[in-house]
Amino acid sequence: MISFGPVPSRRLGISLGINNIPTPKICSYSCIYCQVGVTKRHNIIRQQFYKPEVIFKKVKKHLDSLDKNNKPDYLTFVANGEPTLDINLGESIERLKEFGIPIAVITNASLLNATEVRNNLCKADWVSLKVDSADEKVWRAINRPHILLDFNTYKENLFLFAKEYRGSLNTETMLVKDVNDNALQIQDTADLIKQIKPTTSYISIPTRPPALNWVNKPDEESLNQAYQIYLNAGINPEMILGYEGSNMGYTGNIIKDIVNICSVHPIREDAMQQLLIKDKADSRIVDYLINNHSIRKVEYNSTVYYIRQFQK
Ligand code: SF4
Repeated sequence: MISFGPVPSRRLGISLGINNIPTPKICSYSCIYCQVGVTKRHNIIRQQFYKPEVIFKKVKKHLDSLDKNNKPDYLTFVANGEPTLDINLGESIERLKEFGIPIAVITNASLLNATEVRNNLCKADWVSLKVDSADEKVWRAINRPHILLDFNTYKENLFLFAKEYRGSLNTETMLVKDVNDNALQIQDTADLIKQIKPTTSYISIPTRPPALNWVNKPDEESLNQAYQIYLNAGINPEMILGYEGSNMGYTGNIIKDIVNICSVHPIREDAMQQLLIKDKADSRIVDYLINNHSIRKVEYNSTVYYIRQFQK
C-alpha cells in the first residue's frame, strides 16, 4: 500500500503515511527493534520503485476519499524500509507539494553521504534523522548497518545535512534495554545530537513486536534519566511511548492532563503540585494514577518525577 492512514501522530498531528518502498522491506539497516521484521534485502544502492506520478495519483485518490474533518496536517514518508533508497524521492516530494500539505520524511540517515539524498530531503518541510547511538559498536549492534556503511561517514554527514537543511530538523533515538540505555551511552548520544541542533529530539521505545524477540523496552527510570540527560545537554526532548495523548497541556481534566503530559515528558514533583493546584485537585489523584498503573513515580538526581507507566 503506497498511502495509509491518516493516523494521529504526536510529532505531526494528523499524518497521511506514504510508503515508497515495496515489500519485502528494503533497508540499509536491519535494526534489532524493527517492527517490519529482519531486513532480507539489505541495500545501499538507490533505485526506482514507484514513479512519482503513481505516488501522486494514489495520494490524490486517498485525499479525495477523506472527509473534510480528517484532512492530514502532514504527508509523511514513513516506509517499510529506508525511504531515501528511492531514487525518485525528491521528484515525488515536489509532485506532492501540489496538495499544499507539508511533507515530512522519517529516515535512518545512513545515506546522507550522497549529495542527491541530502538534496532530496532538503525539499521536505520536516525531517527526522535516526540517531540511536554515538558509539560505533552500539550502532553496529542496534542498527546492524549494511557492511559498506561507515560510522564516521554517517556521523559527519549528520552534521553536513544539519548545516544544509532549512526545514524543521528532528532526531529520533530508540532506546533498547541493555543495548543503548545506560547513562554514559545516553550522554554520548545527547552530545552528538546537540551538535545537530534539532528542533525536537524524540526518545522512543519499542512498542510493537521487534525483529528480534529478546529486544526489550528500557525501564521507566532509564527513560526518565535519558530525558533529563537530553534536557541538561540543551536539547528539546520529547518521548514517544506509544500512547495516543492529545499533548494539549492543560485541558481542565486533571486525569487526562497528567497522563497526556507524562506520555511526552516526565512531570517534576513541583510541576505536578502546580498542576493539581490549577485544577483544585489534590495528591489523591496522583495516588490513584499510580495505583492503576497509569503513571510511575521515579527518582533522578534526588528529584522525584512522574512518568507514564509502560504496558509490560
Ligand atoms: S531503519 Fe527503519 S526500516 Fe530500516 S531496519 Fe531500522 S527500523 Fe527497520
